[in-house]
Amino acid sequence: PALLEMKSIHKVYPNGTVANRGVDFSVEEGEIHALVGENGAGKSTLMKILFGLEAPTRGSISFKGQSVSFQGPRDAIKHGMGMVHQHFMLAPSLTVSENIVLGEEPAKGVLSLFRDRAKEQERVAGLIRDYGLKVDPEARADTIPVGQKQRVEILKVLYRGAKLIILDEPTAVLTPQETDELFDSLKSLVRQGHTIIFITHKLREVMQISHRVTVLRGGQSIATLVTKETHQEE
Ligand code: ADP
Ligand code: ADP
Repeated sequence: PALLEMKSIHKVYPNGTVANRGVDFSVEEGEIHALVGENGAGKSTLMKILFGLEAPTRGSISFKGQSVSFQGPRDAIKHGMGMVHQHFMLAPSLTVSENIVLGEEPAKGVLSLFRDRAKEQERVAGLIRDYGLKVDPEARADTIPVGQKQRVEILKVLYRGAKLIILDEPTAVLTPQETDELFDSLKSLVRQGHTIIFITHKLREVMQISHRVTVLRGGQSIATLVTKETHQEE
């Protein structure tokens, strides 16, 4: 059975724009699934619905065989999902490690006197090591290059226990070398039991990194393909 199954998703925004018109989207456990399509195809809307940021007009979602409808990102995170946006939201004056541990509300977290800092450091170091997401945990977030900021964002969702990770155009801001390093980390993540949804519009990357690809066009899923090259390589 699929890990995630979105069926017949329709979304009409209040202004009348129809962003999804019957999208079927299914993700298997342990795969890197590319979601592709031109600007306006409905990719962001579909992912917002998955994360409970928008309510679908019609359609159903099942996750791990259970029917779900998340009421917001917190809900999605609780179920083991993590979203890495194109725009990074790090607290600039805190360290990498503090950003990872404190998540989206660092202001609240730094006030806590009861954190077990040694344990936190150990977990952060473990995550960095396990997935090859190289970054200095003690560096201030505003001093590191953009490729490393992205690693911090990925580490943030892993720290919160994400098993299904959604990456929104993750290579847009990366150099070719950083892109290769990201892909190595993604392979390492799926080897260790994670599942990845990879939003992109670069066909070459789709062929290079994904196991399957779903193509959206005009708010509909027009195809789901197996990208054979990746399978032969394994
Ligand atoms: P993609 O991520 O593939 O670029 P989107 O889901 O962002 O596609 O957009 C699909 C369509 O829905 C576009 O026509 C976009 O302008 C429209 N849209 C997105 N968000 C909203 C919104 N909040 N209100 C109205 N229309 C929207
Ligand atoms: P993305 O590339 O991630 O889809 P956009 O730049 O298209 O982001 O959209 C930025 C924000 O504006 C999103 O939250 C999207 O839902 C919203 N948006 C996009 N199109 C429209 C629209 N036509 N009307 C209202 N909001 C929109």
